[in-house]
Amino acid sequence: MSDTIKRMPTLSDIAALAKRRGFLFPGSEIYGGLANTWDYGPLGSELKKKIKDLWWKNFVTSRADMVGIDAAVVSSEKIWQASGHVAGFADAMVDCKVCHARTRADHLIEDFMEKQGTPLKVEGKPLSELSAIIHEHKIPCPTCGSADLTDARTFNLLFPVHVGILADNADLAYLRGETAQSIFVNFKNVLDSTRVRLPFGIGQMGKSFRNEITKGQLTHRMIEFEQAEIEYFFNPEVEKWEELFNRWLSDMQTFVVETLGVDASHLRVREHSDEERSFYSKRTVDLEYAFPYGFKELWGLAYRTDYDLSRHQEFSGKDLTYTDPMTNKKFIPHVIEPAVGIDRLVLMVLCDSYWDDTANKRVVLKLKPSLAPYTVAVFPLLRNNEELVGKAKDIFASLQKNFRTAWDDRGNIGKRYYYQDEMGTPFCVTIDHQTLEDGTVTVRDRDTTSQERVSIDKLQTYLGAKL
Ligand SMILES: [Zn+2]
Repeated sequence: MSDTIKRMPTLSDIAALAKRRGFLFPGSEIYGGLANTWDYGPLGSELKKKIKDLWWKNFVTSRADMVGIDAAVVSSEKIWQASGHVAGFADAMVDCKVCHARTRADHLIEDFMEKQGTPLKVEGKPLSELSAIIHEHKIPCPTCGSADLTDARTFNLLFPVHVGILADNADLAYLRGETAQSIFVNFKNVLDSTRVRLPFGIGQMGKSFRNEITKGQLTHRMIEFEQAEIEYFFNPEVEKWEELFNRWLSDMQTFVVETLGVDASHLRVREHSDEERSFYSKRTVDLEYAFPYGFKELWGLAYRTDYDLSRHQEFSGKDLTYTDPMTNKKFIPHVIEPAVGIDRLVLMVLCDSYWDDTANKRVVLKLKPSLAPYTVAVFPLLRNNEELVGKAKDIFASLQKNFRTAWDDRGNIGKRYYYQDEMGTPFCVTIDHQTLEDGTVTVRDRDTTSQERVSIDKLQTYLGAKL
């Protein structure tokens, strides 16, 4: 290895690379953009899909105690009344009386106090207390700097939709604010249609919607985002919740470090305080990642007791109990909820793999080979040499059957390498004059830039072994 060091990139480094190479594009860009929406481009959609597939495989299909569902996004108003979101799913916001910019009160205070060197967590504090802190410290508007801010007021995050043609309240539904509730409302359906027994979990991955008005950091806070949530049901008289909780926390960490290849020293576990935690939760932690803008929540883990199923049983009037097959005792199971945002996993992987290799004057995405959008790129040394191009096309066609393969014949080889390095492609195969003589190609390694001659008939095995 060279003597270069891995440096944490800035958010604008990540944003520039993401745009330049087609990982992320601002939503509705040609029409001036739509705040807090992002589109995944050709490389971003591949990376995201790989992460989603790995999550599903790791937490659902490879476990005997898990099943999955895929529920509707548009959902009954009653679900969200029962869950408490209609009444309480609101952020405290303050408006600037000068420039009218609206800011989340908790973020405003936390960012300000952090800069003052006196960090303070205010999540869950009442409006009056937030307002008092803002006025006491004369916290300025982040947009214009004026200290003339309103008191904190709440702003509901659910997206209402009107189903049907008449915009009548009877037709009111909501885009789901989280995937978890559709797991709870399908609990009985899953029990009745499968052979699951406690303890077991239901996993779901899909879009959720929150009417966020604070500008997020890249994809960190979006109005439309992808969640992967699990509700793990158990009998608290049989299972120790503390043990289940710790097992899930360890599974989450293992996934991030081993499956996604993230540096373990960039993670930390933050315990929620009594004030911050929901009243029904006995323990909640956040697995946080060191993003360029600080440690932020990646994955939440909460022991939610029997609160959610009890609420849905109360509001729907349907029996949501579980009958123990041994004792015939009926009860409402307790639940542990590991909930992660897929978009945050993607952003974390981009941040963690960004490598400014100053010694070789290049930027590299050091993605795990199994996550790279393209596994291998094929180059004919010269684009105007028919023999080289023909041979390269044969190799390209055969590799493509097993690996996502890129083709490049533009510019010189060095430029092609730099381009693939930024895409995170781990291997580049060059077909040159020697190939025509002895049937070998050059395989160049993204991270070390070292090159090796490999014979064409061993190429597939050589690459397969590195994945
Ligand atoms: Zn202002």
